[in-house]
Amino acid sequence: MKLDVADALSHPGQEYLFSGTQAIADQEISGDIVRLDDCQTEGCFMADEEGNIAVKGKLRTVAHAPCANCLEEATAEVENDFDEVFLRNGDPEDDEIFAYEGHEVSLDKLVMSYAVMALPIRFLCRKDCPGFEYRDPDAIRSEPGIQFPFAGLQQMLDNNEEV
Ligand SMILES: [Zn+2]
Repeated sequence: MKLDVADALSHPGQEYLFSGTQAIADQEISGDIVRLDDCQTEGCFMADEEGNIAVKGKLRTVAHAPCANCLEEATAEVENDFDEVFLRNGDPEDDEIFAYEGHEVSLDKLVMSYAVMALPIRFLCRKDCPGFEYRDPDAIRSEPGIQFPFAGLQQMLDNNEEV
């Protein structure tokens, strides 16, 4: 996603609104692939007298990754606010700063880093996901002393099918 800052550069101090969507590449985070929906981004930008561009706003997306407990797909809402200055003719290779050249500010790096920053540490398919071992009905049946709660129901259904 790119901002055309030509107007802003000739009117320092004036705010310009922007909004749009930004695709984010899959991220590998501690061994899991995290997939992110297109990121909704909105905010405003403003040039200063030196031609640096202040960009602030918020982003929102949904992230998908395996549940930390049971490996089913889990989703998480991701939201973050950003407030950064893009330095005119700063070094684009410098990871510590945001930079731009000409009259176009690319928000790719900003949106990606702020979305990744807001990812949950653990994805869970639901708040009280009991995890892998309790999900498998066969595992529960084979445990001595635990009755499978629907065994009786299942038997009734089986009997009905035979009628
Ligand atoms: Zn789970």
